[in-house]
Amino acid sequence: MSATYVQLPETPIIGRNLVGGEWVTPAGAAMLDVRSPYTGTVIGRVPLTPAAGVAPVVEAAKKAAEGWRATALRDRTSRMFRFRMLLEQHIERLANLAASEAGKTIAEARAGLLKGIEVCDYALSVQNLDTGGALEVSRGVTCEFKREPLGVVAGIAPFNFPAMVPLWMIPTAITLGNAFILKPSEKVPLTSLLLGELMLEAGVPPGVFSIVHGGKEAVDGILEHPDIQAVGFVGSTNIARRVYAEGTARGKRVLALGGAKNHLIVVPDADPVFTPQAVVDSFTGCAGQRCMAASVMVAVGDVQHIIDEMARRAAAIEMGPGMGALIDRAAQERLEAAIARAEADGAKVLVDGRGKKPSGAAYGGGNWLGPTILDHVRPGSEAHTKELFGPLISIVRVPTLTAAIELQNSSPYGNAASVFTTNGIVAQHVVDNAKAGMVGVNVGVPVPREPFSFGGINESRFGHGDITGQGGVEFWSYLKKVTRKWTARTDGSWMS
Ligand code: NAD
Repeated sequence: MSATYVQLPETPIIGRNLVGGEWVTPAGAAMLDVRSPYTGTVIGRVPLTPAAGVAPVVEAAKKAAEGWRATALRDRTSRMFRFRMLLEQHIERLANLAASEAGKTIAEARAGLLKGIEVCDYALSVQNLDTGGALEVSRGVTCEFKREPLGVVAGIAPFNFPAMVPLWMIPTAITLGNAFILKPSEKVPLTSLLLGELMLEAGVPPGVFSIVHGGKEAVDGILEHPDIQAVGFVGSTNIARRVYAEGTARGKRVLALGGAKNHLIVVPDADPVFTPQAVVDSFTGCAGQRCMAASVMVAVGDVQHIIDEMARRAAAIEMGPGMGALIDRAAQERLEAAIARAEADGAKVLVDGRGKKPSGAAYGGGNWLGPTILDHVRPGSEAHTKELFGPLISIVRVPTLTAAIELQNSSPYGNAASVFTTNGIVAQHVVDNAKAGMVGVNVGVPVPREPFSFGGINESRFGHGDITGQGGVEFWSYLKKVTRKWTARTDGSWMS
């Protein structure tokens, strides 16, 4: 593969579970091939851990959790600081691995790691920020709180961010004193192996960070295990709903982030140069495989000049270095079929990405779809409402801003929404009225920076709180309230 972008591993990487600091293959596990979206070649193999295979991982984590909880916060922080520095030191290796298995460009994979490092920085500040609170509630009686870890906790990740989504959870959960079990996506399990190696190198004690590979069965094992106290999940809405329902029914604390259908509202006074590029970047970045991608553009009134410019820029994107691949062949076929259905439903295919791929025989086995713009999409149709998860944007035309907000708010999801305008009053109106967890003004991908945390509403999130920032600190710990009363004895002659 060309050195201009991703270097695939030369030989397949054989992954194992990380249990008590040792790399082990779980008993009775079938091995799954990991194929690069770029070429379709096998770049790794990992075990599909059966549900029963989760128990030994939890056992080792439980042992480690006791000692880790008792380790001074300052020492926990300094080991996690070493981990954070190793992430930075190995960022190119990590980015290359994440790009190889997820189909991202190197720049996209690097950006995901930088976000992960940002979450580390926030988690490492907990010892300075979270200094507790105390109040003398009556003479001689003090109430205070003390933050405690939960014990053994787990994180279940999707395919589209092999490093970043695990790193939304790992730094905060571990710094707070929990033992953390990661279940990476079976489609992109290789980056997590390097995260595990770096964790051990950083001196985080064996068992404090564990990895269990697999798919549904491994998730079942996590949900069924009584000693896992909390589960962070990121993935599609249907699975998020199920993980939330089954986890909470078993008494676990669960935060499950789901899918999205993000609407970008573009009004006639939007900046004509900046807006088309921002919209194109939003729906083509990570080949549209991110929960923050624009998937609907709500065109208010006459914004034809912006749509024309978007079409020109989208058609010029170079496949490969400019935009990566789709996760698997099934995703490619699903998207091609959705485009055909939208067309049959009356949409106009303004830019058609079908059949677009990088030149070179090596990419023939990859999974490709070029940027695709569907215009005049019918409100309520599949292309408007369903998360398609690819480099595809559906333009729905409406006459007024009120109609645009109504359309945005008709979506069952509520991850992100944005408005492009040069008018502050229009911007404020959208900020005030859009039903979404994250709202952007002239920002195509309105991911808040730490410590503002990350999370949607409605069908984009099951459970309360956010997965990063202060929301993450609250999720991965509990507050113990301590009430102290000291009564002065009056009979001791030595006191006076
Ligand atoms: P997915 O739901 O298919 O998989 C997520 C995880 O669930 C994986 O680890 C997978 O092994 C596991 N899983 C799959 N099927 C399961 C089942 N039947 N029972 C239990 N567990 C199961 O999601 P994906 O395709 O890997 O990721 C893409 C989705 O994730 C999109 O919908 C995207 O919007 C969403 N996502 C959301 C956010 C967010 O912050 N809201 C962030 C990233 C991705």
